Amino acid sequence: MNIQTVGVVGAGVMGIGVAQNLAQTGHQVILVDISENTLDKAKHEIRNNIRFQGFFKKTDKTETPDSILDKIEFSTNYKMLENSDFVVENVTEKWDIKKEVYPLLDSICPANCVFAANTSAIPITQIASATKRADKVVGIHFMNPVPMKPMVEMIRGYHTSDITIEIAKKMLDQMGKECIIVNDSPGFVSNRVLMLTINEAVFLLQDQVSTAEDIDKIFKSCFGHKMGPLETADLIGLDTILFSIEVLYESFNDSKYRPCPLLKKMVNAGLHGRKSGKGFYAYQ
Ligand code: NAD
Repeated sequence: MNIQTVGVVGAGVMGIGVAQNLAQTGHQVILVDISENTLDKAKHEIRNNIRFQGFFKKTDKTETPDSILDKIEFSTNYKMLENSDFVVENVTEKWDIKKEVYPLLDSICPANCVFAANTSAIPITQIASATKRADKVVGIHFMNPVPMKPMVEMIRGYHTSDITIEIAKKMLDQMGKECIIVNDSPGFVSNRVLMLTINEAVFLLQDQVSTAEDIDKIFKSCFGHKMGPLETADLIGLDTILFSIEVLYESFNDSKYRPCPLLKKMVNAGLHGRKSGKGFYAYQ
């Protein structure tokens, strides 16, 4: 089975990257968000990303922003997803929001369409329970920025079937990606560790043990990481970090996941990282 038409729900940081990556690998994409303004920004950002990539890429000179954007339909109408072979859901990391999206997708998409949840921490089994096709729901935790990252974490929910895993692998293969498969648990492997690390780094900043720059520098210079935890938080989005750590806190009922007050304060102040122009660092 060749997957051709792919629905991408949510046009934020991740939805933009997933839609662009799919279009660049020859898929027809329907990108759905609730906000026209967000979709306009998504179009603008994809155009800029492709231009930027063009400066570095040596191959495929035929790829232009227009040729890629021609493969993406931008819409606020979920009905546009009715012919999708596969859907990647990337809406806000809040259960109250995601739980409304899945029954809608269930009622509109073809019966054999696989739903991939691109979530940071919400269990896939919980997401699948909001559908009548739990065997066709799988977690695909894409890495950011999506077009640049060749590896994803795939999560098998309680009811996820082997055939769904195969279809999801095929989808990733078509996108030029590979996966590591893990079992379902809040935060999976990656974010159970990463969110805790970032949250603790914010506590270090709050407790004035060090500056943001030096906290990040220790990870880069001493451990050889490409980015420090606070730079990573800015890239992901501080709101997404807070929502993810809240999911971990509520899921495990373990105080080690309590969100740092400074993180909450920054999110309330609108400092969401790169996407808002300011987080632990300022962006223009
Ligand atoms: P974001 O806040 O940048 O974007 C979320 C988008 O969802 C917004 O554009 C919003 O308008 C849209 N949305 C909200 N409700 C909707 C609805 N009912 N229907 C359609 N669209 C709706 O968030 P993001 O960073 O793109 O994260 C999206 C998902 O991907 C989250 O579950 C997040 O945990 C996960 N994720 C994020 C990262 C990251 O680095 N940011 C990495 C991996 C996974």
